[in-house]
Amino acid sequence: MKKQLTLLIAYILAGALLVSCGSQTASASAQNSPLISYLTAALDSSKAANAPVSSIDYSVIQYGHPDLISGNSGALLAYIRYPQADGFADSAIFNWAQQTCQNARTTIDAIRESNAAAEGEINIQFDSYLTANGSFAGVIEQGEFTHTGLSHPEDIIQTFNLDFQHQRLLDNTDILDYLRTSDILALLVKKLRAAQPESAEYMMEANVKWLHHLAVGTDGIIVILERGVCLPASFGSLRVTLPYEELGDLLLMDREPSLILERLLVSSPEPATQVSSAAAIDPSKPMLALTFDDGPSKYTPQILDLLEQHGGRATFCVIGNLVDASKETVRRAADMGCEIVGHSWDHRNLTMLSAEEIQLELTDTNKAIESAVGTAPKLYRPPYGAFNDELKDLSHEMGFGILSWSVDTQDWKTENADAVYTAVMKNASDRAIILNHDIYQTTADAMAKVIPELIAQGYQLVTVSELFQYCGISLEAGAVYHSGK
Ligand code: ZN
Repeated sequence: MKKQLTLLIAYILAGALLVSCGSQTASASAQNSPLISYLTAALDSSKAANAPVSSIDYSVIQYGHPDLISGNSGALLAYIRYPQADGFADSAIFNWAQQTCQNARTTIDAIRESNAAAEGEINIQFDSYLTANGSFAGVIEQGEFTHTGLSHPEDIIQTFNLDFQHQRLLDNTDILDYLRTSDILALLVKKLRAAQPESAEYMMEANVKWLHHLAVGTDGIIVILERGVCLPASFGSLRVTLPYEELGDLLLMDREPSLILERLLVSSPEPATQVSSAAAIDPSKPMLALTFDDGPSKYTPQILDLLEQHGGRATFCVIGNLVDASKETVRRAADMGCEIVGHSWDHRNLTMLSAEEIQLELTDTNKAIESAVGTAPKLYRPPYGAFNDELKDLSHEMGFGILSWSVDTQDWKTENADAVYTAVMKNASDRAIILNHDIYQTTADAMAKVIPELIAQGYQLVTVSELFQYCGISLEAGAVYHSGK
């Protein structure tokens, strides 16, 4: 039922770069101080967890909570995720996301004037990092815009670097000493060669353009090498971390070693074992399944509170790359007897991906869920509800059922609690599967009325798997499920 991609380029050029040389070696200014020794020791002990060179991640959220611009206009599928933190950088980040989406729309509209069937998809995710003392944060927005007429998607990369003390966004030239580009590049090349020896033959080409996308990271400055711009496209897009202690006085943003001393410690408790609380369900009475897509988000706990308070369960269709950062919420949902199923790793339209890419989308997401709650689901909901015969065949091979819905509240469109409430109450029926998104305050607000009202009307609020179980439906791989009927 969905679409193809469309065009174009939201191109983003970040601050101007100064070029130059100068060949002093990058010396750690406080090499022998106890602080640097401490820092180095702390970093070394955790190297294994932080590869110096990596590809795109999207599971690191240390700054802000994820907010989303999403929609399906028919011609453009949009999914742009960005952090908001009630802070000074919110509007700059939001405006960028909105403008990028608007640029994509404009491009599609222009193409449709000559090709009415043109369609596009823009998909942008982010990672965000905090320095140990919380003084700085780095945000990497990265994704693709693709459309019917393009053979390769256009890459979109934008970084935001925040200096909390001065309440300002840093330019690249505030972060590294661009008067010593050759020293920065020497360090970059060293890291890249060590991790990817096959890149060695391209190292002579390293130039200041390679330093176009910088982000403040936890362990060092992250340099994002854009696919096909720095190394040949076959290397993909790479991220190289230049460790703070090796940058030494090439680092301008903060010359005090204490600021980069302590690493942000992220504890990762053992996964809880998922035990569905086998609440009594009366199969002779009406039941329905509330489902929530695109989370977990900061609104998910409110919905869990309501379910707990009134006695009900729901199914959460989670984005794989968000799970790790919200493990506690996901576990809590599972502990309450809610069901957690995947909604892809990064919300791409699966009907546009290769079999290999789809497999990664589904298995990576299931791994994240399993690591959080102890079990991996046998069911998933494709983004935009988009599926085709190829996806069904592949799901069959992989042993997954495809979850659709019978009632669409359109909560993403209206963003109005009363409208969501009305949409649910007007269309609720026995064995329905109702689509919502737990990423809007308005949806959480609507649930404060919806959940008690449905229960008052005699509905049992069950998970999708419970619905199937009590309606005598056995899950078949590759089949699409719209309801319990
Ligand atoms: Zn979705």
